[in-house]
Amino acid sequence: MAKSTKARLEKTYHQLLKQHGLQLPDEPPDKRDIMAQLMTEAKQNADGHYLKALFSSDMLERFMRYDRLLQSVLDKASREIETDIKQSGLSSEDPVVFVGEFPIGEFNAGVKPVSGGALILFNTGLAMFLYAAVQILVWFMVSVARKQSKYSLEDIVSALTEQVLAYLRFPTRLTTFRSLPFQGGAEQLLGAVAMESCCKFVLTHEYAHVIAGHLTSPRIVIRTAVGDLELMAKRRQQELEADALAIQIMRKSLEREKLRGHTFAASLAAGPLIFFALDELVSRARKELFGTPKTSFHSHPPSSERSAFVRSLLKQNGGDRLLELGDIYVSWLSAMTEHVIRLIRLRQQL
Ligand SMILES: [Zn+2]
Repeated sequence: MAKSTKARLEKTYHQLLKQHGLQLPDEPPDKRDIMAQLMTEAKQNADGHYLKALFSSDMLERFMRYDRLLQSVLDKASREIETDIKQSGLSSEDPVVFVGEFPIGEFNAGVKPVSGGALILFNTGLAMFLYAAVQILVWFMVSVARKQSKYSLEDIVSALTEQVLAYLRFPTRLTTFRSLPFQGGAEQLLGAVAMESCCKFVLTHEYAHVIAGHLTSPRIVIRTAVGDLELMAKRRQQELEADALAIQIMRKSLEREKLRGHTFAASLAAGPLIFFALDELVSRARKELFGTPKTSFHSHPPSSERSAFVRSLLKQNGGDRLLELGDIYVSWLSAMTEHVIRLIRLRQQL
């Protein structure tokens, strides 16, 4: 897409933020120090090939270069997705899209048709929850594997429960990632990689809606903390269609990652599986708290159904081996989910 078109859409995006009285949340002022510290610690703790390979990746450098962390993840993912769409011949034209962080707390992303294109809005709340939950998950896995940790498993489960409860009770409040109890080391990098894979899948799904022509769907008005937001309404069938198309788009990225090494491809494939497992966790916790079984995503089929569908498509592409890492994350996450739900129930009884 021409640079001027992107710039025009970016302007529309900033106008939209202004209309809703929204400001992007402040980044921690000492971000560079945190990143530098993280890199040193991670290098000291690295023992596996996978971790060593990660340190040579551009992730930390990119984070240091960018003013905004989430936007750096979104920009990188959208560049790759647009390349994938072009290379796979799925659309004759470039999608006329700008992807931007939308600073509200909800666990969601959506497409907003605007004049001359579309905005894909990625809620800050979704990114923050994914980041926190995946970090805690990695800490849990590593602590069990090492049989020793600075934190007990109870501490780790209760940290995840806090994140879930904070999100469900105060969906409009944006907390910074520094409020996480566990920081640093190789775990944080592993978590960041998994979180980027989740974000990339969510974005690819939204791009798929755009290139599948779902933009002509009727609009729906979503009530948010910052006023009503008109988005495109998506039917159940369109959701599964977008998931299928997203996996088709992802094939190109998977091929590229395979050239770097199997673990890179497996990390990318883990994204949708982790994402759906977290959506399931949030839905179950919401049901415990408020008794409403609806999923986080308006009009989307249940995450278990979408997960099974996407898993079968990925398996057709890369077999069981491609899914190994994602399956490990998901089985740990299901174990943690049971603990979290039990803890929420206990607290409700008090
Ligand atoms: Zn969708």
